[in-house]
Amino acid sequence: MSGQGQGTEVIVVGGGVIGSSIAYHLARAGVRTLLLEQRTIAVAASGASAGGTRQQGRDPRELALSMRASARWATLEDELAADIHYRRKGHLTVIEREEDRVGLVEAIGRQQAAGLNIRLVEGAELRGIAPALAPHILAGSYTPDDGHANPGLTAKAFAAAAARAGAAVREGVTVHGLAVEGGKVVGVLTDEGRSGADLTILAAGAWSRALAATAGVELPIAPMGLQMILTEAVAPCLDPVVGCVGRRLSFKQLPAGNFLIGGGWPGDWDLARPRGVTRDAGIWGSAQTAAAIIPVSGTVGLQDAWVGIEARSADDMPILGPVREVAGLVIAAGFSGHGFQLSPAIGQVLAELVVEGRPSIPLDALALDRFAGHDTAATLAAPFAG
Ligand SMILES: Cc1cc2nc3c(=O)[nH]c(=O)nc-3n(C[C@H](O)[C@H](O)[C@H](O)COP(=O)(O)OP(=O)(O)OC[C@H]3O[C@@H](n4cnc5c(N)ncnc54)[C@H](O)[C@@H]3O)c2cc1C
Repeated sequence: MSGQGQGTEVIVVGGGVIGSSIAYHLARAGVRTLLLEQRTIAVAASGASAGGTRQQGRDPRELALSMRASARWATLEDELAADIHYRRKGHLTVIEREEDRVGLVEAIGRQQAAGLNIRLVEGAELRGIAPALAPHILAGSYTPDDGHANPGLTAKAFAAAAARAGAAVREGVTVHGLAVEGGKVVGVLTDEGRSGADLTILAAGAWSRALAATAGVELPIAPMGLQMILTEAVAPCLDPVVGCVGRRLSFKQLPAGNFLIGGGWPGDWDLARPRGVTRDAGIWGSAQTAAAIIPVSGTVGLQDAWVGIEARSADDMPILGPVREVAGLVIAAGFSGHGFQLSPAIGQVLAELVVEGRPSIPLDALALDRFAGHDTAATLAAPFAG
């Protein structure tokens, strides 16, 4: 893919779903944009992702972004002129124990108050929405506007649309560092030489920390490996994505019939490679958990397993927006296992920030300086809750 590259105004580092969405929204707004990806589009977290487009269960700091993204998901395939396997068939977070009901009902109430289309479902309604659930499942919180899409296809569709809108999309170009002059980031240093830009947006996922450090910026993020398993295909039997309180589970049936199962099972990672290494215990644990909640999955053979390398921030929330002490640099990293759903909104608000100077959704609660004075090493060392 290629497009214009001369006189670049904005360089976006990283061709995952986040960088590709940002490049698309910038190019669409008429900004001269260069997207640099060291391997291929969607090679890292964005190609390994579970692809859930869930608004429910979001931290209040990112709920407005998530709801904006949900509105965009509804028409994204038309907008990008691509089949990204989007299915808007709901998300269901179920409970197995009566003692979890109070927490579920409270969480539904909080999210309804924030404007989310979410409700408690049980009995015949619950079984109608997801007949494949195990008989012991009691109830669930249901968001009919959630769903899933193919994450690799989505990132590639954003990148292709960015190129069509005039962005230069370059694969196979490694950024070795940020070019800094007089305390300002003025572009990047790559294996092809130096590229200048008025603004550089760092969207290099788990690789962002080392790149930010070249401009003296400390990003409180750490890599984490998240494991997925994929079963063989069966006849269609499940519409919504299913999660379960107290379990590591994210379960969906893909359009081709395979069950895609994750939920925060850890795998091993090595930043020299775009994918991590699976752990047998996690594959087994993930399959057992899935079979306990959706019994039919226990009767289907395993087809594949993989580990995506994701950037986890010190509070499991994305780091978004300008770096106050270093001009010319914007961060979009640290998506902590839930960046895919947000991607249309992230591109939109960052393009607004660049073009209009102000995003339509305030990003202050997600700014890097929220970590000032905090011991982020300790929180980054804590286990990931999923
Ligand atoms: C297994 C798994 C399941 C997930 N499930 C969900 C889900 O159901 N729903 C959801 O919303 N989110 C989910 N996520 C999270 C979501 O997929 C990520 O938050 C999102 O893909 C992050 O995108 P990114 O563009 O920031 O990072 P990445 O996709 O990792 O992209 C970063 C890119 O930067 C490139 N790069 C790195 N260094 C350089 C360099 N020096 N020069 C040039 N390029 C560079 C990399 O090659 C890479 O392509 C999941 C993640 C994983 C791993």
